Amino acid sequence: MIRNMIDQRIIPYIAMCQREGTSLQRGMNFRLHGRHSVILMSRRSDAPYADRIEEDGSVLIYEGHDTAKTKDSPYPKLLDQPEFLNSGRLTENGKFKKAAIDFKRGLKSPDVVKVYEKILPGLWADNGYFHLVDAWCEQVEERDVFKFKLIAIPSSDDDLEAETQFNPQSGERRRIIPSAIKQEVWKRDQGKCVLCGSGDELHFDHIVPYSKGGTSLSAANVQLLCMRHNLQKSAKIE
Ligand SMILES: [Zn+2]
Repeated sequence: MIRNMIDQRIIPYIAMCQREGTSLQRGMNFRLHGRHSVILMSRRSDAPYADRIEEDGSVLIYEGHDTAKTKDSPYPKLLDQPEFLNSGRLTENGKFKKAAIDFKRGLKSPDVVKVYEKILPGLWADNGYFHLVDAWCEQVEERDVFKFKLIAIPSSDDDLEAETQFNPQSGERRRIIPSAIKQEVWKRDQGKCVLCGSGDELHFDHIVPYSKGGTSLSAANVQLLCMRHNLQKSAKIE
């Protein structure tokens, strides 16, 4: 079953940091303030990591992160991605991996991860909540790279609910709009609500919603709406 989803919100970088209560300098942030984790993804051509979306938009394969660039290691892209710090503590890669493997072994419920996607410099899409369900290492250009599998779950503003309520095996998934479609729609609608021209609190709106068979794979079915018009529309549909 696919529930009537809240459309994907577009959010400036500053607002994103305010919402998460921290400046998001790093791409991987494990359990911020002890709650959900936050990851930043990008499918832009200049993206530093190979994140990809699978299964019609319901699965994210997120690449782990390189060791920090320092004077002693100026070429992180030539080194294995680290699981541990020199101190022996886990890196963010290591923490996400442990959570994923513990879930796979049935030791805990899946970690909840909020995903933001860079669309343009300074401009991000809220891709909603995901469950972290798997992690592994791949050899890419002769080095070890971490991969994390995340499944999109129905949006929830309540962390505890997100963690316990949704079962990734039950088929209750959410689909996110592909990056190329988001970029195309943003350009076509010139960064404004198509109904009132407002540039604030914009969402990617499905003209025909998922629940009515609408697709997110075509820009023709996606438009920019401000919060007010997005809410008005979803009230009408329900
Ligand atoms: Zn509007």
